Amino acid sequence: MTTTNSGGPRPAGTGPQGVRPSGGSGSRPRTGGYRPHSGGARHSGGSSGGARGPRPPAQREPQTPKVIELSEAISLRDLATQINVTPINLIKELMQNGIMATINQQLDFDTAAIVSSAFGWEAKQKQIIVESTIPDEVAVDATGKPTPGRVSTLRQRLLAKESAENVEGLVARPPVVTVMGHVDHGKTSLLDAIRKTSVADGEAGGITQHIGAYQVDHGGRKVTFIDTPGHEAFTQMRARGAQITDVAVLVVAADDGVMPQTREAIAHAKAAQVPIVVALNKVDKNNANVERVKQELSEAGLTPDDWGGDTMMVPVSAKQKKGIDDLIEGILLVAESLDSIKANPAKRAVGTIIEAELDKQKGPMATVLVQNGTLELGDAFVIGTVSGRVRAMFDFRGNRIKKATPSVPVSITGMSEVPAAGDVLEVVEDDKIAKALAAQNAERQGRSNGAVRATSLDQYLAQAKASQAIKMELIVKTANQGSLPPLLESLEKLNTKETGANNIRLNVIYQGTGPITESDVNLAIVSGATIIGFEVGLDAAARKKADASAVDVRLYEVIYKLLEELELTVKGMIPKKIITKVLGAAEVKRIFKIPKTGTIAGSIVRSGNIARNNQVRVLRGTLQLHKGTVSSLKRNTEDVREVRAGLECGIGLDNYADLKIGDVIEFISEEEV
Ligand code: GDP
Repeated sequence: MTTTNSGGPRPAGTGPQGVRPSGGSGSRPRTGGYRPHSGGARHSGGSSGGARGPRPPAQREPQTPKVIELSEAISLRDLATQINVTPINLIKELMQNGIMATINQQLDFDTAAIVSSAFGWEAKQKQIIVESTIPDEVAVDATGKPTPGRVSTLRQRLLAKESAENVEGLVARPPVVTVMGHVDHGKTSLLDAIRKTSVADGEAGGITQHIGAYQVDHGGRKVTFIDTPGHEAFTQMRARGAQITDVAVLVVAADDGVMPQTREAIAHAKAAQVPIVVALNKVDKNNANVERVKQELSEAGLTPDDWGGDTMMVPVSAKQKKGIDDLIEGILLVAESLDSIKANPAKRAVGTIIEAELDKQKGPMATVLVQNGTLELGDAFVIGTVSGRVRAMFDFRGNRIKKATPSVPVSITGMSEVPAAGDVLEVVEDDKIAKALAAQNAERQGRSNGAVRATSLDQYLAQAKASQAIKMELIVKTANQGSLPPLLESLEKLNTKETGANNIRLNVIYQGTGPITESDVNLAIVSGATIIGFEVGLDAAARKKADASAVDVRLYEVIYKLLEELELTVKGMIPKKIITKVLGAAEVKRIFKIPKTGTIAGSIVRSGNIARNNQVRVLRGTLQLHKGTVSSLKRNTEDVREVRAGLECGIGLDNYADLKIGDVIEFISEEEV
């Protein structure tokens, strides 16, 4: 890829488009900007050094094929200089091809390539390689120390970079709050009540648009509320490294107390190291019992501050709009105690997409929460594989605005396509860089296919060998409440056993009952946890997510097996992992009870091939009821060895008769690795 005999360096200002050096235009101060590399358009042949002007054009036929790198557009004059012909000859050549062009005309790459080839040059498209200003993902803990197995969030990375580069530029920004809690405890009502009581009635009469977030003003201090309640969205975003929440408000109904999703929300917020303020809601109800709920919360790991703990608990009534001011005051108090709620408004904006849609009139629209810098009308940006320019910007009231500072949610238009929630918006110097970066991201995405990180047991062992002590985070799910306490007790016992050279401690970050859900897998991704399922399976969404993210999910039907494997792990030995392959699946359509033979499931093979000598497992919904072997496999009345998809058959199982219509019998093979 060398240019054997091109002209010297081009005079300033006539360079190919899109490869301007950084730091040129743009009035805002910037650090660590883009470093466009030209991709190595080397002009060798003794002309690489000085600042000579263009060479006198040498009009001779090339002896050997020469290669020239071109951008997507180049002026006729520049092209002539670069391929050593006079502009007149170039114009003539173009005319012969039916193209009328003037000396200052911009030629696109294809035209330039064709005309260059007439003079013996092979044209290659120059790649602009640009680098994002967003720091790479490094896993860090709350104090900024790298922690293996944890996903660092954009917020942490931006703050770390700003602190290192320009601490003085950092100023406090409004805290961003997500409301979580059990279903029906009043999350939506609370968000409504806050919006109605605390959004200052502005010129627009306080009318709010739904853009996925809003801001309230509390005596001049602002708080941003994310308008989608629940920890699922929170953890889904976080699993992508896009954490936007600074403080979590946990809504607990004072007449109901701590419920499964309350516990789940606590686990998710703790895994994300986000402080919690509790809103004890529905205190207007006769049967509200604040003291009892506080007791339950302290048992769940949140001790009220008036009991000497560090969790603020504010009684509210979303219905009667009482206690709202106290709650906001509480949020601001917690926010002020954190050192992380800062940003530099003088930078180019970086933000996270919290919602996006295709509007029939306005085209792609997205709500961006600005996390650093200031987003301005006209700014060129890239959002993953999408590029654009801020054409219009609206606040949550629907007012047109020109600027958005950190923690301000805005709805913008001007994207080439609809981005995804959780994507990062980054303002760049110009459209060309935005496009180049979007193209690079698309290429990268194609390569990595969005793989996310998790920590497998094997990785833990590797880490344990490298460091002194290591905590192994576990998420434990069981089929019923009764089996949880003895299991947790046994796990705790493993921690007190002699663990040998590898000091691994088991740490259960979340426990619950029922099938393993997508939310559990997301929690595992963000906390680097291993999921342990006892007598439970994964639901479809969880299985898909777990496969895509390589989260280590281990399912057990017998407790001693579970404990044996974990004991091996804490001792630093890699337990054998069993990979289960589903070879085929049959759905039970009818049940026949046949004297002497037993129960036969009249079934249809839904997928794959099923074979008499396969192992089987019986699934009812997401629950695995049985695992074992086949006693008989028949087509009509004939014994057969295999049955293909789409065909009906009769299946008998060894030592299992409790089949029901609708059950799925999976035919599997198991392999130890
Ligand atoms: P979410 O599922 O957590 O979003 O709960 P909602 O906001 O939908 O509220 C569930 C139910 O509780 C609704 O019928 C609300 O009217 C009711 N509710 C919410 N807050 C209060 C409150 O402060 N007092 C009373 N009495 N009812 C409430």
